[in-house]
Amino acid sequence: MRKVLSPVMNPNQIAMRLSAFRNFQLPSKSTSVFKRTTTSRSSSVRKMSTDQKFVQSPHKLLVIPGPIEVTDEVLYANAHPSMSHMSLDFASVFGDCVRMTRDILYSKDAQPFLIAGSGTLGWDQVSANLVEPGENALVLHCGYFADSFADCLQTYGAQVDQIKAEVGGMVKAADIESALKSKRYKVITVTHVDTSTAVLSNLKEIAAVVKKVSPDTLVIADAVCSVASEEIQMDAWGVDVVLTATQKGLGTPPGLSIVVASQKAIKVFETRSTPVTSYYASWKKWLPIMKAYEANTVAYFATPPVNLIYAYHASLTQITKGNVSLEQRFKLHQEVSRRIKDAAEEIGFRNVPTSVEARANGMSALYFPEGFVASDIVPRLLKKDVVVAGGLHGAIKDKYFRIGHMGISVVDSRRGDIDKLINALKETLAEAKASKA
Ligand SMILES: *Cc1c(COP(=O)(O)O)cnc(C)c1O
Repeated sequence: MRKVLSPVMNPNQIAMRLSAFRNFQLPSKSTSVFKRTTTSRSSSVRKMSTDQKFVQSPHKLLVIPGPIEVTDEVLYANAHPSMSHMSLDFASVFGDCVRMTRDILYSKDAQPFLIAGSGTLGWDQVSANLVEPGENALVLHCGYFADSFADCLQTYGAQVDQIKAEVGGMVKAADIESALKSKRYKVITVTHVDTSTAVLSNLKEIAAVVKKVSPDTLVIADAVCSVASEEIQMDAWGVDVVLTATQKGLGTPPGLSIVVASQKAIKVFETRSTPVTSYYASWKKWLPIMKAYEANTVAYFATPPVNLIYAYHASLTQITKGNVSLEQRFKLHQEVSRRIKDAAEEIGFRNVPTSVEARANGMSALYFPEGFVASDIVPRLLKKDVVVAGGLHGAIKDKYFRIGHMGISVVDSRRGDIDKLINALKETLAEAKASKA
């Protein structure tokens, strides 16, 4: 296991470090379900040669709702030699990332923004570029992340109203409809999967209600915890902004904010009457950069996270051009989610979402069985090398915990990640019960 290294390493730690390097191994067996070759347009993407394969060091299984486990190919791509962000070789890789990001959302012409930052930067981009000070925003609340988005909108001067669902529930379509009829809202925000409750909102249905009642209102999806684990048909459903980050369903290390804006949203941005209220997050600055990279040329505003772009490219290639189709990927997430939730309920855990339709497919939020608390469960899982996340929603914080099941852990069953997780849950609860007997 990797430990945090103290500034002075003892001989054991040095040996551990060295053994991590030695994990650069010849392939004895293929550990990848994905095609080796990429159909990418880029010439400068390194392909792992067939006689040398990077294998990441052994580590605890990370099953939190992001960051998630990433593939060896993605980690290896991150170790790309330093490249100029102004080189044409890099531009073609960046351009591929823009195009493949669009593909994952089934969009023909939406505009992706790939900017160094985390998912949170997407809230700033929406607030600074699409909402002018004093305009109204309607925030649908299914947990912690809506409060934060509302806070961000208010920071930029928006007037925010929230519709709050009960814990574990979805906001009702009828409530959305009457709110939209009562006031003119510039944007409505939906947390597609609220990571504090594992509630999946019905984005398609909400977008349809908005289109019917208030067609000028932009539909904004906080999809940080749903892109690539839940289906999102941006064009067909009429979603105007999808914001996400690399470290959840997209299976890449953290560090990149990904925002995709419909042409309708871009027009709203271009015709705003007051200046954009941010410098770094301004689409005025970034739109020319994104367009330049996609056209295979370069332009500079602020240095992109070059190596992370290579890693993101590797993951996008696996997701959109691998042996497992996008449709199949979503189906696998549904199947695995059902398996985990059923197994957990069978031994006494209870799902936080109050209805089956409200259950996310890329994560679970589970109440502990009566009489048990986090300290009975979470440390025991950790001892079995399974890392889960604690509670986050204020109202139920100590009563539940969270598991992420997205990406390669779900898609490549040969890794055995899900079996390991389910077995660890069963053993853990049995041990916790025995210790109280
Ligand atoms: C993780 C998450 C965020 C925040 O993303 P960061 O990368 O941590 O800034 C926002 N919204 C949702 C729904 C999330 O799950």
